[in-house]
Amino acid sequence: MLRLLSRTLFCMLFVIVCGPLFAADWQAGFSKTVITPKKPVWLSGYGHRDHPAEGKVHDLYAKAAAFQSPDGTRFVLVTTDLGSMSPEIYNHVLEQAKAQWQLGRESLVINASHTHCAPEICAERKVFHRLPDQAEADLVDYIDTQLKPKLVQIVGEALGALQPAHLSVSQSAAYFGKSRRFPTEDGNIVNDRYDAGITDNTVPVLRVTGPKGKLRGVLFGYPCHNTTLAFYQFCGDYAGFAQYDIEEQHPDAVAMFVMGCGGDQNPYPRHGANGLNYAKQHGRELADAVLTSLKGPQLAITGDLKVAATDVTLELEPLPPLDELRKQAEGGEESIYSRKANYLLNQLKTNGKVELTQNCPLNVAKFGNELLFIFVSGETVLDYARLSQFQFGGQMVWVAGYNNDVFAYLPSQRILIEGGYEGRTGIVHQLTPTPFLPNVEEIVMGGIRQLVEQVSAPAKTSP
Ligand SMILES: [Zn+2]
Repeated sequence: MLRLLSRTLFCMLFVIVCGPLFAADWQAGFSKTVITPKKPVWLSGYGHRDHPAEGKVHDLYAKAAAFQSPDGTRFVLVTTDLGSMSPEIYNHVLEQAKAQWQLGRESLVINASHTHCAPEICAERKVFHRLPDQAEADLVDYIDTQLKPKLVQIVGEALGALQPAHLSVSQSAAYFGKSRRFPTEDGNIVNDRYDAGITDNTVPVLRVTGPKGKLRGVLFGYPCHNTTLAFYQFCGDYAGFAQYDIEEQHPDAVAMFVMGCGGDQNPYPRHGANGLNYAKQHGRELADAVLTSLKGPQLAITGDLKVAATDVTLELEPLPPLDELRKQAEGGEESIYSRKANYLLNQLKTNGKVELTQNCPLNVAKFGNELLFIFVSGETVLDYARLSQFQFGGQMVWVAGYNNDVFAYLPSQRILIEGGYEGRTGIVHQLTPTPFLPNVEEIVMGGIRQLVEQVSAPAKTSP
């Protein structure tokens, strides 16, 4: 009896002593800042826009989560209520983060929520959106004097806020995201709701609490275009509303939306006179899913953090014959095909050739043995999440799209074969010269596999 009592006392002591120590193994820090432009600048996404923003529904945010595991490995994820992310902006933030906090490329990811009601910061806007000079000047001013410094600032603040934390993952579901690849009777794929199409309702959730269990931050994902809205007001769309709703319930915590592989998924219903109500409704559904998940069973993150990054080079189809390009180029400024043809012909004239490749940055962060977080660039389609989940099972595999460089739609082999907007026709709006070759999926998955192997390798022990 005495022995049992002493054993119980020992166990209690062990829990008291080791409980807080265990919690202190990982550290996390959060920061957020408003990035709503001070001026009513041009809005993102839709090519048919013809004037700048007219006001705002709510403020747009950039948020940063910094993580550090017991061995000192760090990873910072920045999420933004923005339509896109360009290499110019990402590289600026990385350079500053390297210089000030010794953060490497493998430790920094910037994710765009792909709201179409944010400033148009994408690299292709200069060529494909017919922006008046003043509108372009206002955007450059916004990017250089507001956005870039704020992104750098929150990375520093999140690292500065690192404190002992307990991390755990869970999953929930939301159902407003659906396939938008509708197969017509004549064998084409058009951009419309297709309930029978391939979709994914999963909402992955990473919960971060302090040692005493208080919620400090939550990261949640959903693979769906953040495009319920198509008007002229700044708004984070469904993802913005979801973040606001969660933070209303947890005012001391930072809620961060991580865009998933939603390149071929849309929120339904959407657009029209009721668009704003739909966005609020979808946001509420997503927030409820996250709030439910926060209270449910959790899988604690216990091991170390491992990070890796690489750039893979994607190959593109040959250019159309010169005669065809020249003919397209005569279509006038109104025609997007003509603008693309002129862009390509100008490159030929200036450089003597068009580079038929596309750089594709990839990141992987492994949180213990419990969470494998994969970050793909481009407008990543859902197949990349599914392929990764099939290949790297045994733990939570969370795949985010729209990271670091949102260059164009990143189709899978299936989508390339099927055709449609994400596979082929959408490329006319992008700086990427021509559609991808069928080996695109093999190259992207090869890059991801290499990174997963790198972060999964057992730690080297000294002899
Ligand atoms: Zn899109």
